[in-house]
Amino acid sequence: MNIILFGAPGVGKGTQAEKLVKKYHIVHISTGEMFRDAIKGNTPLGQLANSYISKGHLVPDEVTISLVKERISQSDCQKGFILDGFPRTLQQAECLGKICLELNIKIDYVIDIEVLEDELITRLSGRRICKNCGSSYHVVFNKPKVNDVCDNCQGPLITRDDDNKESVIVRLNTYKKQTEPLIKYYMDQGILLRINGQQAIDDVFKEIVNKIGE
Ligand code: ADP
Ligand code: ADP
Ligand code: ZN
Repeated sequence: MNIILFGAPGVGKGTQAEKLVKKYHIVHISTGEMFRDAIKGNTPLGQLANSYISKGHLVPDEVTISLVKERISQSDCQKGFILDGFPRTLQQAECLGKICLELNIKIDYVIDIEVLEDELITRLSGRRICKNCGSSYHVVFNKPKVNDVCDNCQGPLITRDDDNKESVIVRLNTYKKQTEPLIKYYMDQGILLRINGQQAIDDVFKEIVNKIGE
């Protein structure tokens, strides 16, 4: 099964991806995490990506598309994958379509998680991520077992540099302008599933599983 997790920053894509990976044994591909790893390693890709991400802007399509193309061509993706945070522009979606044709695979579902904007701001301002594994927590809604320590790997929890107020506003506007139009694109393809993201994490997960099948 190949799926796209779709939605504005903070709807819970990363949180749900972690649970879906465990249940369906498929590969998690988060472009945001790939960029953050490159930034941590101070690679040329990381330096380039950081100049956009730190301002809340999207990384240019050519860069992002070639990164994803390389990743989904790898053999572990044959068992199925979750794209988290890609595509985010019409050009990315069209290129993904071409890549799928070339690799003779298809996207089964686009899972659109929907949350109101005020709630997104609350979620993003309280988000903490694990410095080692990228796992996502929240200071009120999804606390780790031990304060500031990751449940999965015992790594330290930190605030993402781009989860500051200015950047969040830019990211939400970018989502509305460049990414939201893809809802219609995938609805027209008949593969869009709308999910109410404004419920407890486990209930969102149940709704997704109900819709895509056990
Ligand atoms: P969020 O969890 O807030 O949705 P991500 O972790 O998915 O954010 O992405 C963080 C940042 O990485 C984005 O704000 C953007 O700058 C960059 N990025 C991630 N995915 C893409 C993409 N598909 N196209 C362009 N830029 C991207
Ligand atoms: P995304 O990957 O879409 O940007 P995350 O999965 O990182 O979103 O979630 C954003 C923030 O909201 C995190 O702090 C996370 O713990 C929290 N969160 C995720 N899902 C829910 C939910 N259903 N209810 C409340 N908070 C949530
Ligand atoms: Zn961790």
